[in-house]
Amino acid sequence: MPQDAEATADGPAPGRHLNAVFQRQYQASRRELAPDLKARQHALARLRDIVTDNRFAIAEAISHDFGNRSRHETELLEVAPTLSAIRYARRKLAGWMKPQRRGVDLAFQPGRAWVRHEPLGVVGIIAPWNYPLLLAVSPLVDALAAGNRVMVKPSELAPRFADLLQRLVTERFDPEEVAVMTGGVEAAQRFSSLPFDHLLFTGSTAVGRKVMQAAAKNLTPVTLELGGKSPAIVCPDYPLDKAASSVALGKFLNAGQTCIAPDYALVPTEKVADFAAAVMSSARRAYPAIAGNEDYSAIINEHHYERLRDAVAAARLDGATVLSHQDGGADSGRKMDPTLVFGVAPESLLMTEEIFGPVLPIVGYDSLDDAIRYVAARDRPLALYCFSNDKSAQTMVLDGTISGGVTVNGTLLHVAQESLPFGGVGTSGMGAYHGFDGFRRLSHARSVYKVGAFSVFERLGPPWGKLAGMASR
Ligand code: NAD
Repeated sequence: MPQDAEATADGPAPGRHLNAVFQRQYQASRRELAPDLKARQHALARLRDIVTDNRFAIAEAISHDFGNRSRHETELLEVAPTLSAIRYARRKLAGWMKPQRRGVDLAFQPGRAWVRHEPLGVVGIIAPWNYPLLLAVSPLVDALAAGNRVMVKPSELAPRFADLLQRLVTERFDPEEVAVMTGGVEAAQRFSSLPFDHLLFTGSTAVGRKVMQAAAKNLTPVTLELGGKSPAIVCPDYPLDKAASSVALGKFLNAGQTCIAPDYALVPTEKVADFAAAVMSSARRAYPAIAGNEDYSAIINEHHYERLRDAVAAARLDGATVLSHQDGGADSGRKMDPTLVFGVAPESLLMTEEIFGPVLPIVGYDSLDDAIRYVAARDRPLALYCFSNDKSAQTMVLDGTISGGVTVNGTLLHVAQESLPFGGVGTSGMGAYHGFDGFRRLSHARSVYKVGAFSVFERLGPPWGKLAGMASR
């Protein structure tokens, strides 16, 4: 049993509660090692029912937390993919749980080798605010499919949703199976210090570092789903209007508060102005008005709203050109105008920090090689978008860059493929989940070799000389 992190401390009640829940899950995970297929299917079905029975309350809570989040976006971008992940896992689970046969070298015949995917035990999940349902529940799907007990810590920046999730989970799950722990940064710090069997964190790169440090003290393995600056490279051959509407779609959903939103676009220099005009007209078509538009989300809070406005103001002061939607009534109730910026300095905030809002810098390039070098010289992004119908240009971009994932000729769509792993690389994260990759990530791949009847191994013994000579041949 791991050391009780607070057994000797006179810590505050919330800390003791956190620890008590962990201890209960830990004991249960060591008592009942691996739930069978039926139990896992039942857990996933209860999770599905939580989402389907409460979809409106969920959208309402999230909208309240954002100060106005499009309910349709919540339905499309959170409820639908969460249910799809549950459906996929339920359909595939029996196959995933089957032991995997592996080959046995002639020297070890007769014998059999296989891998069993077994539960790790207690998994911790720390979620961000930007897709509070999806990013708390889809890792939970993978963790439950893998047979684990799970503690979830939602973001304090979406408190109404966090309270709702806690209530709904408590109604359908025993705290020994799944528990939702609410609270702010202090609670999150205590949470990440628990000796989980695995900790899956989704959030910023800066906090990801702290989480990994806390987990290292317990030798807890981590999956870090972090952020970064995901580029969209528009190759010279690709129709500008098509690229522009894809980039606008990916950028302005959830008002740019999407970890895999295109952060900036790289476009042939002579096309920058036309591309900007095409992105803006696409944004205006999609969102004829900003203020009062039920389909356009607000910025989560005043701090982020000011951060975004300051970054645009600083770029303008540095001589960048700023093009905004100019709806007239825009920027009300923290709904920020879709904004395009070009001629922005590489060392400006907009080009060095993750933007996470509806602001798109457009950077010109002279040759595709230059664009690739620009991306390759920077931190490895979570996503990359390449627009080209030319296979050799696609290959150049794929071979010349590294990112967590890629969509070719579109934005965001790779994340919706249940068959693909989702995760970052370098500063955008480590480890991936979703579907089988999530099941495997949150399982222990246990190797088993069974010695066959009539094996020579039981008859082996020194002197070793002759055998050593044969084995090293
Ligand atoms: P954040 O890092 O500020 O917070 C995420 C979670 O960490 C919250 O639950 C918070 O309570 C907790 N936390 C805060 N301080 C902590 C600490 N010291 N120790 C442990 N936990 C702590 O991120 P955010 O603002 O909620 O989300 C935005 C960031 O998340 C962006 O960078 C975005 O790119 C990234 N993100 C990544 C993905 C992905 O799948 N890779 C998805 C969504 C968001």
